[in-house]
Amino acid sequence: MLDGDIEAQQPWIEEPQSLLEQLLSGLVAIERDYPQSVSHAPVATLPDPLAVMAVAKCSWCGIAVEANDGFRAYEPAGERRAVFCRLEHAVPWGLQGAHWDPGAEPSQLDGNYRCSVCDVELDDVRIDLIRHRGEHRIADHFCGVDHLTSWAKSGGRWR
Ligand SMILES: [Zn+2]
Ligand SMILES: [Zn+2]
Repeated sequence: MLDGDIEAQQPWIEEPQSLLEQLLSGLVAIERDYPQSVSHAPVATLPDPLAVMAVAKCSWCGIAVEANDGFRAYEPAGERRAVFCRLEHAVPWGLQGAHWDPGAEPSQLDGNYRCSVCDVELDDVRIDLIRHRGEHRIADHFCGVDHLTSWAKSGGRWR
């Protein structure tokens, strides 16, 4: 009885093996065509995610700064700008030589600016620092990087 059962099952044991053989021969056929298709495959180029999202990067630490957050510094005379994720990062940035990026100032008011530190009257040779907080834009102006960094060091408007 027992022997008969085993014999009856044997065809089922052998079947997977022949399936495997079919699979393997199929894989070999695929592999034969593979090198050709690879050599002619176009090189994929991915878009820069930062450019797509239009996010600025902190000029000091490189972290992404969203449009409604952080600080933007502009120097109208030199048509250059910098971005800070938070005010504290304007301090080492200024002390280490103030590396600007090219970029025009967003169009703004007529000029009756005074330095937020020394209260001197300012013309085009100045720095605007604009805080982005949600919809709000809060601007301060400085006679130079020195006063921007000293103002930032002492906590800005919230000293
Ligand atoms: Zn930063
Ligand atoms: Zn000043």
